[in-house]
Amino acid sequence: MPDYPSILQSIHGEILAERPEGKLATYIPGLAKVAPDQFGICLHTASGEDFLAGDSEVPFSIQSITKVLLLAMLASTEGDSIWQRVGVEPSGNPFNSLVQLEYEKGIPRNPFINAGALVVCDLLLGLYDDPESNFLKFVQRISGIPEIHYDRSVAKSEREVAYRNLALLNLMKDFGNIHQDVDAIIRFYCTACSISMSCRHLARTFALFMNHGILDGGEEILSINKAKRINALMQTCGFYDESGEFAFRVGLPGKSGVGGGIAAVHPGRYSVAVWSPPLNPKGNSAAGLRALERLTDLTGNSIF
Ligand code: GLN
Repeated sequence: MPDYPSILQSIHGEILAERPEGKLATYIPGLAKVAPDQFGICLHTASGEDFLAGDSEVPFSIQSITKVLLLAMLASTEGDSIWQRVGVEPSGNPFNSLVQLEYEKGIPRNPFINAGALVVCDLLLGLYDDPESNFLKFVQRISGIPEIHYDRSVAKSEREVAYRNLALLNLMKDFGNIHQDVDAIIRFYCTACSISMSCRHLARTFALFMNHGILDGGEEILSINKAKRINALMQTCGFYDESGEFAFRVGLPGKSGVGGGIAAVHPGRYSVAVWSPPLNPKGNSAAGLRALERLTDLTGNSIF
């Protein structure tokens, strides 16, 4: 096994010295208040050990990382019908883009752009009477961490400015690809994005995807085929129009969020979460991307 404690320490030191440049996501007022200088990383191994550096126990808003968890909850009970409503191709466009929906007749390119995650929320609303509480229970169960919670003030602040997500929903509804009430979907989506977790929480949660869909105790949440597909989607679509760059520099399936978090997995070996709020122009954590690049370089361990 690589010497993870010293590798994480040196990554932490390099990031503090380099301070990769970025800007906070201010379009969600609740995220604009976060202290930008924080950096944390947690690596969780297949044998169950956690290695930590920096602000790895500080909770932050996971934002779009939640899209992987929403899809996992949906896929845990549903089959291939999901893929009639949302595609599996990289979009090559920003996370909140509207352009492709018009000529692709309301079918989003993939479940990790906003339009796709909104369709996943629509499907979940059709399956559960109280999807907010079912989703939180699902995340608590797969992480094994009962204190994980929603940050209601972040959810509310996003809901108040959710014009673009409402536009995506209305356009898809016009094409017949949204079945539930648009306001109920926005409410559920913003709440799901507001989940608050630390790097340690997130690395443990993503152990499910490292472990091919099986929880530590042996319970199967996703079949091996479904876990493979979710990892493949993270690899090709997890970073929007920067997915190629992430594969090129880091070489792990992963997912970012505008709260500055990134979760990634090396199937069979480790899950890792990193957090630093300032974002690069594509909306991905600048220091987070750099830290994960250093991790796969220093350990010599990417999926490639
Ligand atoms: N809640 C955010 C939004 O819908 C999530 C975006 C992200 O993290 N990339 O804009």
